[in-house]
Amino acid sequence: MLPQIESLLVIQDRDQQIQTLQNELDRIPRDAASIKERLAEAQTTLKSAKEQIQKNELAVKKIDLDRKTRKDTIDKLNVQRFETKKNDEYAALGAEVVRYQDMVDELETQELEYMEKSDGLAAAMETANEKLISIKARMADEVRALTEKKSNHTNRIAELKEERVLLVKDIEDSTIAMYDRVFAKKGNAAVCPLQENQCGGCHMKVITDTVSKTIQEKELSQCENCGCFLYSV
Ligand SMILES: [Zn+2]
Repeated sequence: MLPQIESLLVIQDRDQQIQTLQNELDRIPRDAASIKERLAEAQTTLKSAKEQIQKNELAVKKIDLDRKTRKDTIDKLNVQRFETKKNDEYAALGAEVVRYQDMVDELETQELEYMEKSDGLAAAMETANEKLISIKARMADEVRALTEKKSNHTNRIAELKEERVLLVKDIEDSTIAMYDRVFAKKGNAAVCPLQENQCGGCHMKVITDTVSKTIQEKELSQCENCGCFLYSV
């Protein structure tokens, strides 16, 4: 293998490592935001569960009060009923008592429904609370991991870049400039194997002249299609 190709392959390896690390670094703010979003979501769920419980409790209190008022009315009606001497008034008051008792029964049914609902609401609040606690517990570790990742990746990228500065010293300026252009254009490679007369970078067939040049290994050869430096395998 041509010494220049060997050097370029080492540089390419460092560049690919830098690229992978940089992509991960770029994702860190998004990962951090998603941790915060999960926390906010869990807090909202818990808050709304608590509000539901309060609403339910208020409804029960209101029904309780309504029921008591109607029961007081029934007591008063009963007193009037036993005091009256008139048969028609006695009957009318009796009908009123029945009417009020029906209302009390209806309110009791409603109250039972709300009380049954409160068990489910309490369970939902407990689940929401547990979820929030677990998110908070994990959050510290996740944030720490992201901070460590950021610092490690930044340091490693700096090391790789320093190493790269030394590596490119052995390569002609025009060659490294060409390498950089091709790497940038292709996105992740600029030195590719020649595989059965095809460029390993773009998979196009290269011309015979390029194939011979690559196999002879006397000078650098490039794919006419994508510009990749070629080496024979
Ligand atoms: Zn190519």
